[in-house]
Amino acid sequence: MHDILPEEQKYYQKIYEVVSNIADFYGFGKIETPVLEETELFSKGIGLATDVVKEQMYNLKTKGGDFLTLRPEWTAPVVRAYIQYGMQSLSQPVKLWYFGPCYRYERQQAGRYRQFWQFGFEVLGEKGSVADAQIIQIFHNILEELKLKNLIIQINSIGDNNCRPYYKKLLVSYLRGRETSLCLDCKRRLRENVLRVLDCKEEKCQIIKREAPQILDHLCDECHSHFKEILEFLDETGLPYNLNPYLVRGLDYYTKTVFEIFFTKSVEKENFLNALAGGGRYDKLAKLLGGKETSACGGAAGVERIIKLMKNLEMKFPKEAEAQVFLTQLGVLAKKKSLRLLEDFRRAKIKTTEAFGRDSLKAQLNKANRLGVKYVLILGQKEALEGTIIIKNMGSGKQEIVKLDKVVGTMKKRLKKLKSEA
Ligand code: AMP
Repeated sequence: MHDILPEEQKYYQKIYEVVSNIADFYGFGKIETPVLEETELFSKGIGLATDVVKEQMYNLKTKGGDFLTLRPEWTAPVVRAYIQYGMQSLSQPVKLWYFGPCYRYERQQAGRYRQFWQFGFEVLGEKGSVADAQIIQIFHNILEELKLKNLIIQINSIGDNNCRPYYKKLLVSYLRGRETSLCLDCKRRLRENVLRVLDCKEEKCQIIKREAPQILDHLCDECHSHFKEILEFLDETGLPYNLNPYLVRGLDYYTKTVFEIFFTKSVEKENFLNALAGGGRYDKLAKLLGGKETSACGGAAGVERIIKLMKNLEMKFPKEAEAQVFLTQLGVLAKKKSLRLLEDFRRAKIKTTEAFGRDSLKAQLNKANRLGVKYVLILGQKEALEGTIIIKNMGSGKQEIVKLDKVVGTMKKRLKKLKSEA
């Protein structure tokens, strides 16, 4: 888990800005769900045999005896909210987006945190393949808008309850004959979650799965035409994709489409092997969680992974507006008046800075010099008593005295003039 320090915030803010603008354009409403949910939501929704549920959840028991879990992902909570607030009776599809932290007890490795931020999109109540294609397009658009090029979409279909059970049988019988050559994890997966053997990264399993039956050859008619339509949409919109028959993703709730988006170029000898975003269709999830059967699809992207890439690509940000006015004070009465004056500047939306903790004028002017402000205001004992203030132009060195209650208006005019001359 990591802190997000002030210098990191600009990355989060930039991503938030791009995501929220695109969400708005495509008609998604923002949702926030509690960071704690009942454990059962995830064990039921994601699946008991998945890595996330078996190994990666932060679980706790409350004083009242409830079993709760820190959100490891957003889809199950979003579907829970969709059911809880009767969104099935709204005009469908219901489109929701989110941006916030998730928690997974991961093994320590590059690109994996135990608290990481995700943003994501869910389209609920839509079974047409256009929704899957649009979700993929939205993630691609966001990454492109963040100036990340060299992206590739990997896509697969893992079928549905009609065709997947038969395919699983085929796969199990193929793997059974080769069980002794599988890695330890895959021996377990063979019994618990056979599709996960397909995305095992172990060398010895790669060789075996190369010859394994592929699900795309065993899709039922409905899944086949759904998948074909998505590929046609992707072709039409010119999005770069690869078919990846080994992509199954780790969560049980997927049906039909699964996808991930990768960055393909190595930057400074660093390969970005982890997916930036991933998602798919989950037509059975709402029913599993106690709602009506609801076709749906969505996806999520990892904010830290995107930030790492932005940093490696040395992405530039427009400089933040800097303070143009520095308020100095000398003496007790002046300090009191300065506090109030600073508020007047804030209300007038003039970015003004100060060093109220310093009493010496020299120290305050040194700081003003370092910041490179255009104007310094000096409120000394005499001025505080007389109700005046000194404006010093740091460029020309010229000073003038104005009435304290006129200084905000005067500065507004000066700064406006400065802007028009720039
Ligand atoms: P998932 O819910 O596993 O499909 O994750 C969706 C996206 O979230 C991934 O493509 C990653 O970008 C990001 N992500 C998932 N797990 C982590 C993690 N432990 N640390 C950082 N990012 C993650």
